[in-house]
Amino acid sequence: MPTLQWTHPPAAAPMPEARSPIPSSLPKPHRALGLALLLAIFLAAGLFAYRLSERDGIDRMRQAASHQLDTLAAAIDSEVTRHASIPSAVELNPDVLALLRAPEDKQDVLQPAANRFLQKLNDHLGGPAIFVLDTKGRVAASSDWIFSDNLLAAELSYMPFFRNAVRGVPARHYAVDHVRHEPGYYFALPIRDEQQEWKVIGVAVVKSGIRELERRWLGQEAPALIVDSSGLVLLASPPDWRYATLQPWPKAELERVSREQFAGQAIGAVTLDIELEGAADGAIVRLPKHLRGDLSPLSGAKPYLALSRNLPGTAWRIVVFSDLRPVAVQAATHAALTAAALGCLLLGALYAKQRQRLARGREEAQAMLQRANQELENKVGERTADLSEAVDRLQREVVERERAEQTLRSAQDELVQAAKLAVLGQMATGITHELSQPLGAIRTLSANAVEFMHRGDLVTAEKNLGIVGQLAEQAGRIITPLKTFARKSPAVSAAVDVAQAVDSALFLFEQRLRKQNVTVDRPIAADSWIAWCDQNRLQQVLVNLIGNAIDAMAERPERRLRFAIALADERRLALTVSDTGSGFTAQALEHLFEPFFTTKQPGEGLGLGLTISRDILRDFGGDLLAEPAPGGGACFTVLLPLSINADPPKGLP
Ligand code: ADP
Repeated sequence: MPTLQWTHPPAAAPMPEARSPIPSSLPKPHRALGLALLLAIFLAAGLFAYRLSERDGIDRMRQAASHQLDTLAAAIDSEVTRHASIPSAVELNPDVLALLRAPEDKQDVLQPAANRFLQKLNDHLGGPAIFVLDTKGRVAASSDWIFSDNLLAAELSYMPFFRNAVRGVPARHYAVDHVRHEPGYYFALPIRDEQQEWKVIGVAVVKSGIRELERRWLGQEAPALIVDSSGLVLLASPPDWRYATLQPWPKAELERVSREQFAGQAIGAVTLDIELEGAADGAIVRLPKHLRGDLSPLSGAKPYLALSRNLPGTAWRIVVFSDLRPVAVQAATHAALTAAALGCLLLGALYAKQRQRLARGREEAQAMLQRANQELENKVGERTADLSEAVDRLQREVVERERAEQTLRSAQDELVQAAKLAVLGQMATGITHELSQPLGAIRTLSANAVEFMHRGDLVTAEKNLGIVGQLAEQAGRIITPLKTFARKSPAVSAAVDVAQAVDSALFLFEQRLRKQNVTVDRPIAADSWIAWCDQNRLQQVLVNLIGNAIDAMAERPERRLRFAIALADERRLALTVSDTGSGFTAQALEHLFEPFFTTKQPGEGLGLGLTISRDILRDFGGDLLAEPAPGGGACFTVLLPLSINADPPKGLP
């Protein structure tokens, strides 16, 4: 028979490895290099975004500062420089000219007219003061003549504007007068006398108030300065920086300017220490550390954008400072956003690539799976073909086996039959003897009956014929069991009374048992032990056993044949047949059931009885066992299946 082996399909080709999104399998130095490169790209992008945003922020800040400068310049212009043309009007006034032309002793008379003119002009302008100086720098007439603290007769020759104007050069600058200690912007114009060949006979001065300007200035949100040409801060927000210098000044210079321009008021107490070179387009400046706290609300350690503008018509410069921190914060935010966006982009690209890889991997795996499936299907097909071939072969073999079994069975039946005939052959002498007696009597009685009929004695003839009938019946009783035993019949299982089967078998040996003086011990009640087997076959087994026992006891002084019955287990009964015969040698016991094993003389035994008997019993689901009998002799145990429908054996506890 072919060996059916289920072989596994050949190991499928290795599945494609799931590829990691990050090439973690790269050698370490490459990974580090890749990471460094990535970091550098992020940094560069962040830096680029930072610079771009910073430049943009500074531009916007510069625009805002420029706008602030415009507003401030307009305010200064309206407050200060609109007075610039007034001194020209003073120069043309005849009262003023008369006053300045008059000798000193006559001036007192001419002064009131000039004073009134100046007062009227000043009232019209709404400025703080208009006055006229003589060539010595003394105030000859003033618009404030009505006030007790007026400037009349005040000595102002030390003022820089006078020194310039008396030399014929118009001058203008910021100064603090020493009478009222009030800051103002002074416009000075030389007054020339047409009659004295345009000689300078005095100086006309207009003082422009800066209070309104100051008010506005201090209201500035962003820090802002007004710086004069020498680098002195005239107006500032924060106010502490007023009269600060941009760069450190020599002490003597500070004292001189204080004396000449600021009525002795201290200046230069604070040095801002900043360079405003190039601040017209905006310059990034850093204030000294100790000053930063003063730049409220924009204190801090960060740089500022300084934007300055020269004021036309004055020697002033306006400077506004803008804190660059918001720009830096915004630039940093933009840098971070750019880096994040780049990161997202990179992640997106990685994700897309990974998806692509996964999809490819999936496709490959699917293709591989399909291939494996195909292979498997092919294998299954092959195996199925093998299997159906094997099944066909098996079926053929089964048919052959059944045929062989049939042949064997008929051979066995033939053998059984042969064995039976052999037994009958052995019995033939005894049977002949058994039959010869009734047959002789029948012959004699029937001859006598004929004679009695000839004589007319019909009564006796009838009596004789009656005896003949009885004898024929007796012969029939001898022959009937033999016929039954010798009948060749197929084995058919049915309920069989064991006691009856034993009796039938014993009946066949009746004459031999009697002749050899064998005592039979058979304590089995009729209809108590019902086995499920074929009666004829069981009888044949018992005939074999009884025949062997009688043979074995032939030479023994004590001849006893004993039957006993009991339950072997819950499904089988055990019938033991023991004798007081020769028993077995160890070697005989070993080969007892082998075919053709016999210890008997040729012609007396074939050595098939026990083999056939065991086969018959095994066919019914029973068995045959042999063992030495306890007191010598042999003991055979016949195991038989109990009939299913039978009542429990009588006589059992
Ligand atoms: P056969 O009777 O033709 O020899 P069997 O198969 O019936 O064949 O018996 C085989 C042998 O078993 C016998 O020859 C005998 O030696 C031995 N044997 C069988 N029954 C007994 C018995 N009751 N006592 C002793 N020996 C026995």
